Amino acid sequence: MRVYGKKPVFVFDPADRSNRLPNDPAYTTARRRWELCPPSLQKLFTQAFGAGLNEPARRVTEGEWQGLFLQLKDGAVACPSCQAENLWEPALISLSCWHCKHSIALPPRLVVSHAAGKHNVLLVKGARLRRRHFEPHAADGETEIGQVVQHPTDPQILGHQEPDRGAMARLVAGRDAERICATKVRAVERRD
Ligand SMILES: [Zn+2]
Repeated sequence: MRVYGKKPVFVFDPADRSNRLPNDPAYTTARRRWELCPPSLQKLFTQAFGAGLNEPARRVTEGEWQGLFLQLKDGAVACPSCQAENLWEPALISLSCWHCKHSIALPPRLVVSHAAGKHNVLLVKGARLRRRHFEPHAADGETEIGQVVQHPTDPQILGHQEPDRGAMARLVAGRDAERICATKVRAVERRD
């Protein structure tokens, strides 16, 4: 009898293909879901269940998992054709819907630089700006400090609205964007 777990091999390990999924329809869903994972997520999985299995120093840290998933969460965008949720990540310069294959026009994004690195927030309508976007280690990181809204008469103009305030600060590159938070906002990339 073979005791599984003695020599675990990740089924999608690109370096060791000894345990790759058999070409059986029963595994189609697993293969399909792996293909749909953003490259950054595939990379961490491969590291965690590849080299990280036997080399503790190469294991993925809790902070790395958390940073990746928060970035994916802030890069979620609904397909305008079928409404399926898609995951964008900073390395992607274009995005096609995983469900209906239509091209998705990427909205502008807020790029925040801080000591822990860069964080991108896609400025989709209704997106929440939270304290963690500017202060990654804040205890109240999920606290909302503003919401992305559309201009009442020109939906192409996006703004930032603070809770309990009627005024809208237009999101533009440079000085105005920095008003969102004392922490430096590197840039707001706008749709032209
Ligand atoms: Zn779609």
